[in-house]
Amino acid sequence: GDDMSFARTPSSPGWDDLVSINAGPRMNATFVTLARNTDVWDIADSIRQVEDRFNRRFNYDWVFLNDQPFDETFKKVTTSLVSGTTHYGLIPTEHWSFPDWIDQEKAKKVREDMKERKIIYGDSVSYRHMCRFESGFFFRHELMLNYEWYWRVEPSVKLFCDVHYDPFRVMAEEKKKYSFVLSLYEYHETIPTLWESTKKFMKNHPEHIAKDNSMAFLSDDKGENYNRCHFWSNFEVGNLEWLRSKAYIDFFESLDQDGGFFYERWGDAPVHSIAAGLLLDKSEIKFFNDIGYWHVPFTHCPTGEQTRLDLRCHCNPKDNFDWKGYSCTSRYYELNGLEKPLGWENEKD
Ligand code: GDP
Ligand code: MN
Repeated sequence: GDDMSFARTPSSPGWDDLVSINAGPRMNATFVTLARNTDVWDIADSIRQVEDRFNRRFNYDWVFLNDQPFDETFKKVTTSLVSGTTHYGLIPTEHWSFPDWIDQEKAKKVREDMKERKIIYGDSVSYRHMCRFESGFFFRHELMLNYEWYWRVEPSVKLFCDVHYDPFRVMAEEKKKYSFVLSLYEYHETIPTLWESTKKFMKNHPEHIAKDNSMAFLSDDKGENYNRCHFWSNFEVGNLEWLRSKAYIDFFESLDQDGGFFYERWGDAPVHSIAAGLLLDKSEIKFFNDIGYWHVPFTHCPTGEQTRLDLRCHCNPKDNFDWKGYSCTSRYYELNGLEKPLGWENEKD
């Protein structure tokens, strides 16, 4: 016991040593980033923040995946920034192409139509491959097979607060499989038949549906319609064994057969979220209030002033999206019977 420790504040020397004593056992975990060579400076920005706020004390590995070979600059820059071991993987063509049952003409017409209707990424082929890859394949890449836990990081994101515990270990200890910091409503135009496909899956595979699921997060009428709530998947800390389970793979393959990754523009966020909501027990989904995060255009700034001070957060609490009208996070709290973090009412506007 250090009798002076109580007197230390986040700005005192030694604060990091004091709070990182509880690092605990190392987990079988990695960061994972899907990126193009041209994303190098935007991912460098994200890595610097993840390292400063967390990984410089933990040194977890980082896996980079790409549909094209990574160039020397990308590898040099990212390896210099990551405190753990870096791995660079090429995505196999089968994981980044049209399945043979997709009608190319029909898919093309959809893209032209979505372009006219100005639907975001509606005319993009690569964006569709990206969403399908993140939905069904990243966790099966050979570089990912030896890990149990992942933390997804995208280019140009921000971490606003110190992370003074190991989120992977917290997930394991709390028996969580999937997590989020931001939730919101999906654009209807990108997923018009996703729920029909989901219902078909539920009918064909009742054995995969968790009894104590989060249907109330996804639907306001007990499963008849999708309310478009989803966890924002550009941030995820999750369990890879779950994604590799028969339940998840059956779900992905059922959706993939229906073709909506190409005939519509299904995103990996609603796909992961519906899977988490239906295949997992509701207690297996975690919300990280204390991880401050930004991906354009939304901010998660932790609710609760003491948390923000202790973790040296630099976000404006007024920017916190959690309790605003377009967020689904209140539903998560209500469905799980959780108390909202202290101060949420004052920090609403
Ligand atoms: P948004 O967040 O939905 O606007 O989409 P992003 O442009 O951020 O893409 C999501 C993730 O996929 C990011 O990590 C990108 O770097 C990555 N990504 C998107 N398109 C491609 C692509 O064609 N090739 C590769 N290798 N990565 C991509
Ligand atoms: Mn992004």
